[in-house]
Amino acid sequence: MSDFKVSTPEQVLSEIFDLTSKSKKEVGGLLLGRFEKQKNILSISDHISGPQSSSFARVSLSDELLVQATAEIAEKGANVTIIGWYHSHPGMGLFMSSVDVKTQKRYQSLFPEAVALVVDPIKRSFKFFRLSYDDNLKKEYWKEVAYQLIEEKKSKKKKEREINSVFRKLKKLLGQEK
Ligand SMILES: [Zn+2]
Repeated sequence: MSDFKVSTPEQVLSEIFDLTSKSKKEVGGLLLGRFEKQKNILSISDHISGPQSSSFARVSLSDELLVQATAEIAEKGANVTIIGWYHSHPGMGLFMSSVDVKTQKRYQSLFPEAVALVVDPIKRSFKFFRLSYDDNLKKEYWKEVAYQLIEEKKSKKKKEREINSVFRKLKKLLGQEK
């Protein structure tokens, strides 16, 4: 697969920083958006955050739930889907732990272009990662994905409505809302 770039609104990143900086523990959530094939860009449009639990993006979100959520979003005809996940490494630096690699492998098996966003709220730094397969070593390794920051577009309102319906669906699926 050829390398693609991640495109993310500054707003999404600053929200994730705000959210993760409130906790000394690891905090995680999901990234929503879509893959733009012609441009070879993975375009992030929003994020969804779980309870203040380090396990949110890894454990409590089972494969089954992920598949279900993704399918339901597609069914609704929404233009966005789950394109990855994020979690914080407070003061620990930016890398992929062995657990992170396992988690990312799961995301890439569900959505081939999935990325992992790791943020360090203390250093206010972040990086996007993906797994590649080394044919010689016969194993996976993680590498950084290039990104570009974009400003919010004027069509934000319309996008917001679209995403809100997806959010409601996801929250319901994740049992946060009855
Ligand atoms: Zn980690």
